[in-house]
Amino acid sequence: MSQFPVIDGELHVGGQPLTRLAARIGQTPFYAYDRALISARVAELRRALPDGLRLHYAMKANPMPALVCHMAGLVDGIDVASAGELQVALDSGCSPEEISFAGPGKRADELQRAVAAGILVNVESARELPTLAQAGERLGVRARVALRVNPPFELKSSGMRMGGGPKPFGVDAEQVPAVLAEIGRLGLAFEGFHIFAGSQNLQADAIVDAQQSAYRLAVELAAHAPAPLRVLNLGGGFGIPYFAGEARLPVDAIAANLGEIMHRAAAELPGARLVLELGRYLVGEAGIYVCRVTDRKCSRGHVFLVTDGGLHHHLAASGNFGQVLRKNYPVTIGNRAGQAPGEPCTVVGPLCTPLDVIAAKVALPDAAVGDLVVVFQSGAYGASASPAGFLSHPPCIEALI
Ligand SMILES: *Cc1c(COP(=O)(O)O)cnc(C)c1O
Repeated sequence: MSQFPVIDGELHVGGQPLTRLAARIGQTPFYAYDRALISARVAELRRALPDGLRLHYAMKANPMPALVCHMAGLVDGIDVASAGELQVALDSGCSPEEISFAGPGKRADELQRAVAAGILVNVESARELPTLAQAGERLGVRARVALRVNPPFELKSSGMRMGGGPKPFGVDAEQVPAVLAEIGRLGLAFEGFHIFAGSQNLQADAIVDAQQSAYRLAVELAAHAPAPLRVLNLGGGFGIPYFAGEARLPVDAIAANLGEIMHRAAAELPGARLVLELGRYLVGEAGIYVCRVTDRKCSRGHVFLVTDGGLHHHLAASGNFGQVLRKNYPVTIGNRAGQAPGEPCTVVGPLCTPLDVIAAKVALPDAAVGDLVVVFQSGAYGASASPAGFLSHPPCIEALI
């Protein structure tokens, strides 16, 4: 599953042996993100996608500033979900024209900062509209808005559903005509729709269906819009394989479907640019989490590798970030990657809670104190999605290699 090569029995990251990288970083635990792998992923996806389709990076997947700067040079725009993320996106050099801001419960100060920055606000509630209009008046600009629609359908077989049924995200499709009228009345610069139905999907046909439905819904709703659509953000939802038995998402059928949608859009929504917004698919597989074995214990016949890393840095690998049944992320012992597995063991962190499990009953090479445990598929929803303050252990470091 891993894209990181093993040379002379040792995992290599960015062309360097892992132990050398650990020495360079100067501490464990750390996250390492491989910029060449990220660039290769974006290039590979672009080759598959139809020309003219806009590719955005949803930076909540990994908001590390250096990584966001790297992404800014590769994608067509950045999607942010808070004013804090907006600051990083602006610092990255991404043009404000190509930044959009989604998320429920945007505060007045966040909306004002968004208008001042000149970015596109994906409106999730009619409550945001007067604040945006007032900010625009004060600054002498027209606030740029798109409407996030909560569609009447779901993204099937999704890890996380974010559309369909009652949801805190976006405006229910039935209410959209009234909210569009309000956008027109307030004189906001209406640019289009944002329809994001879910995340972490490995079924190409489910994504194709959702994108077809989203496109049809957008065409219907466009009839009520105060201005022609300039942008239609069809969401994303592309998943990556985390667990045994999961396979990479095949993107060819999705790309072909998007080509067909773009063809129809040229006639039905002339002037509208189609956007795909992806987070984990672009960066998740390019990152690893590395921690060091600090103790090896045998309890009633079962081996535990205790490490200096755990759920306070990597909540998702511990199974506590939206998983229903706990499963192991792919792991290895980075400095023994060539060795055959020994007896099954359980890798845990130093937190005094049974939740702090990195990998349970996993076949790894026999590890000793000082060895480096590597968790793959860790480039998204890692450091920033973990409760770093829980139990007051030292923070981890992130490095872009
Ligand atoms: C979280 C989020 C994404 C990114 O999801 P991934 O699963 O990382 O691709 C994209 N768009 C919106 C609106 C989101 O909230």
